[in-house]
Amino acid sequence: MRVLLVGSGGREHAMAETLAKSPALSALFIAPGNPGTARCGTNVPIGAHDVAALVTFAREQKIDLVVPGPEAPLVAGLADACALAGLPCAGPTQAAAQLEGSKSFTKEVCDAAGIPTAAWERFTDAPSAIAYVRRKGAPIVVKADGLAAGKGVVVATTVAEAEAAITDMMTGGALGDAGRSVVIEDCLVGEEVSLFAFCAGETACLIGAAQDHKRIGDGDTGPNTGGMGAVSPPKGFGRAEQEAALDLLVRPMLREMVRRGTPFRGVIFAGLMLTENGPSLIEYNVRFGDPEAEALLPRLTSDLLPALQALAEDRLDVAPITFSNQASICVIMAARGYPGSPEKGAVIHGVDTANALEGVRVFQAGTTQNMAGELVVSGGRVLAVCALADTVQEAQKRAYAGVKAITWDGTVWRTDIGNRAL
Ligand code: AMP
Repeated sequence: MRVLLVGSGGREHAMAETLAKSPALSALFIAPGNPGTARCGTNVPIGAHDVAALVTFAREQKIDLVVPGPEAPLVAGLADACALAGLPCAGPTQAAAQLEGSKSFTKEVCDAAGIPTAAWERFTDAPSAIAYVRRKGAPIVVKADGLAAGKGVVVATTVAEAEAAITDMMTGGALGDAGRSVVIEDCLVGEEVSLFAFCAGETACLIGAAQDHKRIGDGDTGPNTGGMGAVSPPKGFGRAEQEAALDLLVRPMLREMVRRGTPFRGVIFAGLMLTENGPSLIEYNVRFGDPEAEALLPRLTSDLLPALQALAEDRLDVAPITFSNQASICVIMAARGYPGSPEKGAVIHGVDTANALEGVRVFQAGTTQNMAGELVVSGGRVLAVCALADTVQEAQKRAYAGVKAITWDGTVWRTDIGNRAL
């Protein structure tokens, strides 16, 4: 099979490396990819947002399967454009990608399907939103309705903070169109975990669960990031709990999407809070998480490619998906200044040394090559250093041995990834 993988982060490097192991693969192209994915296939200089160019390339190259990594091309209609061109695509249509593109859409689907989620209201004008938070009190959560690259949610601990968030989003234009309407919801309390499944129509096959570490600093301190590390599986959320959560929070959504005439096909990433009343849905994403994919995919023991092909053809039942029971830890190495203004250009040493350590895989994200062919820092999250082992302790030990083998001027990483799972 000839496969086009779309994206350029650590998630896509992990996907590329997993796909490259498949006996069914004859050619792998990654658009635009990074120096890590170039070791698994051929990078193509087409941006992940450029739906028209991606489809043209896929037709010219007689691609058998398009595999989207990030959400942006899906929300922009990549799967629809592929369908028009007769290209199988392992991702949702634009209509189904609304599950990630619109908070209020997801809330409506949850309510219609009877899925537990925080009580909510949608507002299109700031005075009504402010009146609502004054009535409800704090803590309360203010969310831009549209896609805001992870910056559209404020968990406000005071009413004043909630009001400021509403004003910024709705009248300050802080998030552009994404913040013209807001969803305000009750604050959920508990442990947060991410659940992943391959879905097609009404069928969902469990991939696994992971726990992300969003804050930049140890002990969950400092500003939010794209994710500083992940652990799979999370403590106390094993296979039985994951299957029960699929029944509660994912399968009813799939049935509702079919009922609406917009079936979902792709990877579902359900963010959930394990509250004292059971799991409650925070959000859906319509693709793998990053860094969760880097922690999850090394645990896959079946072939990823036929599973994605079956998904794209709505025949998920024919593809076995199996995972090892090993623990997986992923530690993100970021650039000094991240998440604000990361310092770029430093030469990275030690990636091959880390990759040679037992159980360790290094996935590249914010990297590029300089004129001398050296690997250099080009973004905020630079590398995902991942390790598998029979226990969380051992996986943690291995991952941090990998981290210590890698150097550049200005490394930043958390030292406590995995502690919560011990
Ligand atoms: P979202 O983009 O909806 O995933 O929200 C981003 C983050 O905000 C989540 O990962 C949670 O940590 C937090 N969050 C969102 N909604 C809630 C809620 N209702 N209660 C508590 N925390 C929330």
